Amino acid sequence: MIQLYIPLNFLGVLYREIKQSLTDLDKMFGLLDREREVADAPGAPALQVRDGTVRFEGVHFAYDSGPNGRPILHDVSFEIPAGRTVAVVGASGAGKSTLARLLYRFYDVSGGRITIDGQDIRAVQQDSLRRAIGIVPQDTVLFNDTVGYNIAYGRPGATTDEVVAAARSAHIHDFIAATPQGYETMVGERGLKLSGGEKQRVAIARTLLKNPPIMVFDEATSALDSANERAIQAELRQVARGRSTLIIAHRLSTVVDAHRIVVLHQGRVAESGTHDQLLAAGGRYAQMWRLQQAGAEPE
Ligand code: ATP
Repeated sequence: MIQLYIPLNFLGVLYREIKQSLTDLDKMFGLLDREREVADAPGAPALQVRDGTVRFEGVHFAYDSGPNGRPILHDVSFEIPAGRTVAVVGASGAGKSTLARLLYRFYDVSGGRITIDGQDIRAVQQDSLRRAIGIVPQDTVLFNDTVGYNIAYGRPGATTDEVVAAARSAHIHDFIAATPQGYETMVGERGLKLSGGEKQRVAIARTLLKNPPIMVFDEATSALDSANERAIQAELRQVARGRSTLIIAHRLSTVVDAHRIVVLHQGRVAESGTHDQLLAAGGRYAQMWRLQQAGAEPE
């Protein structure tokens, strides 16, 4: 028995190690089976985050860089001032999530550049870039492991107290504490199934532990019930406070308080401003807002 146990246990350890070295973001973006597109430039320095100002400067992008590649982003420029929240809105397929993928450098821009505190993200070590950015994805991938592990993943080595504090801030602690095995409860495909909102709270707790200066929130497309949605939005505002935050928004109710709203249309910035400015401008955003108020999905 003991002979069998040791190799199996070893495999378990190995499995955990491998799993830890993969990011859930790779999974989130469906990139697990793909070679990394980008590599560190030789001798690239670590990103130095001072106040966390993010700038998209004349960004062009096509997923397929060949001559027939369909351009997805055209000359996209905007800034996320340090500690501020910028929301990107636009129809499905406008290129919103692509912006997040480029900021995290899953792909390199085809033209223009993205900078953080003036440093081109292509010129710094990817690890340092990714340490500076926390992503709350649309659809959080949970590992087949304990809920505690899934939160602690935000900062390997975090203490139990830190994990619990993050879970409390993300308003998921009471839910976890009520399960028979608490933080040791297995979740994921082979464990306890969590709702979309609960999963997002786990992701928020992870991000709180990671404590990054820059955050990306990819709002879930599948609508949560409105009470849950309001609660998540409130938690999110708390997490976003003091961090440069990019919200990929699918519902306009999320963006009303953003410092700036960027309206993306077919890969271009159609207009940008605050909610009030955009309503007064009477353009695409105002039209989307009217449609949403009338109960229709903005498209
Ligand atoms: P949604 O609101 O539906 O999430 P979005 O505005 O976030 O949409 P993106 O996911 O950025 O849109 O996609 C923009 C365009 O890029 C779409 O036409 C999409 O089909 C295309 N696209 C997305 N991912 C890839 C990929 N990996 N390879 C090729 N094309 C892609």
